[in-house]
Amino acid sequence: MMEDEYQLEYFKSEGLTRNICTSCGKAFWTRDPDRTVCGDAPCEPYQFIGNPIFRPHSVDEMREAYLSFFEKQGHTRIDRYPVAARWRDDIYLTIASIADFQPFVTSGVVPPPANPLTISQPCIRLNDLDSVGRSGRHLTCFEMMAHHAFNSDDKEIYWKDRTVELCDQLLTSLGANKEKVTYKEHPWIGGGNAGPSVEVLIGGLEVATLVFMSLGKQKTDKPPIELEGTPYYPMTLRIVDTGYGLERFVWASQGSPTIYDAVFPEMVSHVMQEAGFGHRLHDPDFIRILGENAKFAGLMDISGQRIFELRQKVADKIGIPTDKLEKMIAPVESVYAIVDHTRCLSYMLGDCIVPSNAKDGYLARLVLRRTLRMMRELNLPDDKLGDLIERQMKIIGLSKFEQDPDVVMEIVDREVEKYRTTM
Ligand SMILES: [Zn+2]
Repeated sequence: MMEDEYQLEYFKSEGLTRNICTSCGKAFWTRDPDRTVCGDAPCEPYQFIGNPIFRPHSVDEMREAYLSFFEKQGHTRIDRYPVAARWRDDIYLTIASIADFQPFVTSGVVPPPANPLTISQPCIRLNDLDSVGRSGRHLTCFEMMAHHAFNSDDKEIYWKDRTVELCDQLLTSLGANKEKVTYKEHPWIGGGNAGPSVEVLIGGLEVATLVFMSLGKQKTDKPPIELEGTPYYPMTLRIVDTGYGLERFVWASQGSPTIYDAVFPEMVSHVMQEAGFGHRLHDPDFIRILGENAKFAGLMDISGQRIFELRQKVADKIGIPTDKLEKMIAPVESVYAIVDHTRCLSYMLGDCIVPSNAKDGYLARLVLRRTLRMMRELNLPDDKLGDLIERQMKIIGLSKFEQDPDVVMEIVDREVEKYRTTM
């Protein structure tokens, strides 16, 4: 059923061929008929570290480049939604841009705010906490840049061909060589919906996912299709659901060892200074090992492995003793994680989540306490947390938050107090 879904006119007219990855066995589309691997990790190592894919962009520049590109292509730019998904009864946090429109828009109950539209939605996902700081690419909080089109029988906006074409044009406009882009077939199921999707890969990095949401669990008058033992019905709306990782785009545009160095350079260097090893950022040996570590660690699945085994494997590859690598890398990983977590807390508290023992409040407390634990490991005083969150809020822009920054500071101070009492 799904295989036919990927036979796009656009692929054919542009001369792409469908190859099977010799490493993972999955199908992908490429402009290079001799290409044997899909371009995804771990089938292909990162190619972009030290060798950027796009022209250099900061976070703000990349977001603007994306949104204005889609505006020029007839999309309406809309404001972000809060990271606390209060309109949903199944999730506490906004985990994707499409979450903004589920369930009421996607089910056709209310019309979309614009059609087609473009947005950069801050999202929070806490399922890979242990990998944050270590893998070089995991974040708890990221912006999903997206363009969405809601097609109905009455009104066709655009579907697969135009979506892939827009993706190619965007990548080219940022300086990428489209000969190196691969589109990997990836049938998608999530949040009660399903449909064909392609992962967009370049330089060994997945930079976007293009989902064509066309099936749902909700009964319609059309006959169902069975996926993983569940009947899915063709939806009244067919929805273009794209997700482009803003931070990954920035990383790929800079080719730095980790995503953290590319996305929050000021905060990384600030926390390193505070922790007393800022000088290492100018040590070429340190920078080299950091880069090598990022290259290999990024290819490994940390969640399934003990950190020591991972460290051993990376040390073998770089050719230095494991304890030397551990001593060098572990504090830096904590710095990265602290920087990531404080940005996540800025969005949580700035969007009016109050730490507590329940629901989204519990998640905020979890992240906050995890940050304090790592700060203590680096001998950073607890009091510093409020300052780090305030800095993050200023970098993002205070006007982007609903909550008064003074209230955020007061909340953080009280949470620090409670943490001390608990300890
Ligand atoms: Zn593969």
